[in-house]
Amino acid sequence: MDTSNGEAVTAEVALDLILGQLPLTKKTSTVALQEAIGRITATAITAPINVPSFRNSAMDGYTFTHNADSAAQFESGSLVFKEAGVSLAGHPFESSFDEDECIRITTGAMLPDQANTIIIKEDTQVIESSSGRMIRPLRYPGIGEYVRDIGSNIRMGQTLCEAGCKITPAVCGLLASAGISTVEIVAPLKVSLLSTGDELSDPEQALSPGKIHDANRYFLRALLSSANVEIDDLGIVGDSLESLTTALDRAMQSDILISSGGVSVGEADMLRKALSSSGQLQLWKILMKPGKPLTFGELHSGTRLFGLPGNPVSAMVTFTVFVAPAIRHMLGMPPQTQMLLKASCQDNLVKQPGRMELQRGIMMTMQDGTLGVKSTGQQDSHILSSLAAADCLIKLPLESAGAKIGDDVYIIPLSDNGF
Ligand code: AMP
Ligand code: MG
Repeated sequence: MDTSNGEAVTAEVALDLILGQLPLTKKTSTVALQEAIGRITATAITAPINVPSFRNSAMDGYTFTHNADSAAQFESGSLVFKEAGVSLAGHPFESSFDEDECIRITTGAMLPDQANTIIIKEDTQVIESSSGRMIRPLRYPGIGEYVRDIGSNIRMGQTLCEAGCKITPAVCGLLASAGISTVEIVAPLKVSLLSTGDELSDPEQALSPGKIHDANRYFLRALLSSANVEIDDLGIVGDSLESLTTALDRAMQSDILISSGGVSVGEADMLRKALSSSGQLQLWKILMKPGKPLTFGELHSGTRLFGLPGNPVSAMVTFTVFVAPAIRHMLGMPPQTQMLLKASCQDNLVKQPGRMELQRGIMMTMQDGTLGVKSTGQQDSHILSSLAAADCLIKLPLESAGAKIGDDVYIIPLSDNGF
């Protein structure tokens, strides 16, 4: 399919097309486990040991050895053990004991070889006698009860995480428990960022007539803050072919360039023109609102270019739908599970058939416990306040002509892009 000539494609086709030709980053480094938090594994990691590596107790109590007579002895009330020693966590009981003896044991302590069952403290009666402490079970424990077997948590050789896995605090703990102290991680992607537009000023600058503050570079940096990327902020670039070409040249040292603005068909929209000499355009019309003019291409250096629309809501939505999955893909991460939830619509939503629409919504729990959604109001693509108020996007399919109060619609919760 030749999409570079402006043939419009659906968002699904566009995403497949983008992901299908992205390279996987190859640079990796080995770092200490603590430094790997939030980073992405470059290889699968398997367990070098069994966890636990010895049988231990899941509860505080007494451990003993079941034999053929113990059940009958319990029934007749004659099952009583003499406490012959203690096994504490980190301090095993290392000698042997007789059949009518038991060993006091704490949670995590090693079971003596001959023991096979734990009777928990709460299920015993302790009798102090002249010959020592006697322990009478008040409940008959099944064989193996409360015993944590070797490898019952992690088996040696088991895959602890696949390549492309994010080291979350829980994954970090899992690796530490298996004795892994260093991890090979994927090197961060280099991402260049720029805003185009002669009208833009940074927020700290006073506005002269005709100027507005740059919002896009600020929220894009925020969206990328938890991603495994290094940002090269190229700032605001004016609407001239020359300055844009210079910026594209500089971005050639990055894996990805994210720009915003300059991708419509206005006389100051220069990005596609600049790309025609600095690289190759691959896609620029998507049947989706907001975000129709998202532009995707490749610079001569191999840098992937995402030219987001200038309107802030369009830029943020197209980032979420296309750029975030692309970054995940290049880092070797699996696709994020798409949460598409059915909700009953609490407003009338206006829409023309012909494009898929992502409208801004707020989720709510209905009286019967089901999910509802209401609109955040104005849906024009420059109204960032209605995106700031939203916690989900309402996905209205291509052919839909809007939704009425009470209709079922599908919503996508706005999350952290899965970085
Ligand atoms: P463009 O895609 O360049 O035609 O821009 C579309 C609209 O978005 C115009 O109203 C721009 O002024 C506005 N816009 C472009 N870039 C930004 C930005 N970085 N921050 C806020 N608004 C922007
Ligand atoms: Mg512009």
